[in-house]
Formats: sequence, structure tokens, C-alpha cells
Amino acid sequence: MTANVPVGNQTLYQMLTAAVSSEHLCHACLFFGEEGIGKRTAARFLASAVLCESSKEKPCGQCASCMKFSHGNHPDFYEYAGKRGKNAIGVDEIRQIRQDAYTIPNDGVYKVYLIPYVEEMSASAANALLKVLEEPPAHAIFLLTANHYDHVMETIRSRCVKYPVLPLSDAQVISILKDRFPDASEEKCQKAAAIAGGNPGLAISAMGETEEDVPLAQSVSDALAFGDEYALLCACTKASASSQTMRAMLVGLLRLLRASFLAKTNKTQDTLASRITLRGLMECIAITEESIAALDGNINNGLLAMELTSRLMNARRFV
Ligand SMILES: [Zn+2]
Repeated sequence: MTANVPVGNQTLYQMLTAAVSSEHLCHACLFFGEEGIGKRTAARFLASAVLCESSKEKPCGQCASCMKFSHGNHPDFYEYAGKRGKNAIGVDEIRQIRQDAYTIPNDGVYKVYLIPYVEEMSASAANALLKVLEEPPAHAIFLLTANHYDHVMETIRSRCVKYPVLPLSDAQVISILKDRFPDASEEKCQKAAAIAGGNPGLAISAMGETEEDVPLAQSVSDALAFGDEYALLCACTKASASSQTMRAMLVGLLRLLRASFLAKTNKTQDTLASRITLRGLMECIAITEESIAALDGNINNGLLAMELTSRLMNARRFV
């Protein structure tokens, strides 16, 4: 392995390196796994290896192509913004990609397209993408990412080599955090890693400037325990005053939910754990994680507060 391989998921990176050196590259790859887990990091790694000009291990990190890639100005690498929901990549953009894919590369042998959240595309966009995946030009490589594998159109899935991206160990997450936040204390990194459960994106979010807001998170947790929808809405609305407050509340809530989850599995005393099923707790944890990720996507805080309230209320009814 080269020194340029990202931390963690060594098996995945070995598979990607092997795929590039075998020179039997598939024209479409699908990376899937939860939000923040590292799908785009893996896809970018593959893209840089595909475009690398070295005759030895790729990506070499030193050739002209690798330099352009690391500076974010490689003319044959196209990464589309991670727009979601109704703003997800549309049929017109996919048609543009298709058109572009049929023109020859600017620099080297390949053109690489990274398209995130393929499961959120409209049916017409997905069908347009399928057309180019069915008859890809020899020089075009499509790297797709999805949070929810099952929601990706079956016909698209069947055209792709599939790469699941799995959670990392806490030690690997801590090593990523130390690299990214060299001034942060060991304790802060450990705490963020413990909250994140192997998800580096979530850990990075949890490292945000704001400390967790325990009192507000506790109000949410209590309202949830007693099924008090009004109190839950009040606490979430209070948190929506700013993205910073919302993040602090969510990070605190995630820690409380994880503690209740442990209490439930260990059968120890815990107010929330005694009033909600294990499946309900797992769902609440997933909702909280998704909400933290949504904050990074510039979501409206007021809408997030309302959505959070209704989703948590639904989750607590799980049997
Ligand atoms: Zn290189």
C-alpha cells in the first residue's frame, strides 16, 4: 500500500488498488454506507488512482496528475455537489454529464465522474444515468455513492461493482481526528469518537466548536421518554435558535441515546430505556445522526426542529 491510502477500511482500499492495477476497471462503481462513513473519501481515492500517471503504485501522490488532483483542479475529474431531496442532481445535469462523457479526456486516458446520493435522483435522472452506464465510452468511469443501497434503482445497481463502506474502529477514528484537529486534546478526540460509533464524518461534526448542550438534550430525552410531544417540540424549537445550538443539542442527545441503548442491552436502570423499545432507541439514534449530517447540508433549522419532533415521536412508538 502507498502512503496515500486514507486511514481505516484497509480491505476496501486494497480492493480498489487491485482493481486499478488489474486494468480491468469497471465503468461504474457504487459505494454505499451511512452518511459520514467515508464513501466519497473512498471514491476520491479510486479516482486519483485511476488518473495517476505513475507506472508503479497508484495513487503515487507525486505525478502531475496526482498534484492536480490534490489541488482540486484535475481537468478529467468531475465531482458533483451533494445536493439532496428535491434539489438532488436532475435529468438535465445527467444529460450534460452524458454529453461530456462522450468527448475525449483532456489530460490522460480516463474521465472520472463522482455522483453522490444516486438514490435520491428522480426516476427520469436515474433512467438517463442508466443509459450511459449501459453503453459507457471506453474512457469514462462513473463513481456513485448512496446512503441507502436498497433505494438505488435495481437496474443501476446491476451495472455497478459494489463497495460497501463500513464503520471504522475507535482508534482509526481518533487517528483521523488527530490529523484533522492537531490542536485538540486527546480527551476531546476520544469523546467525539465514542459518540460517532465508527463514523468519521459524524466524529468530525462532533468535534465542532460547540460543546454538547446537556440540559437541552436532557429535556429532549425526557420529553421522548414520557411521550410528551409538546415538550419535545418546545425543546427542539429552542435548539433551532442557531445551527450551533442545534448541533450542541443533537451531539448531547446522541450521547444520551447511546447511553440508554447500553443500559437497555445491559438491563440497567435508565428512564428512557425503560420507556422505549430497543428498536425505538436504535431508530432515535439513526434519526439524531441523520439530523447532525443534515445540519452540515445547510438545512433550515426550524424545519429540522419540526421534522425531528415528528420523527422521534414516531420512533418511540416502535414495538
Ligand atoms: Zn500519481
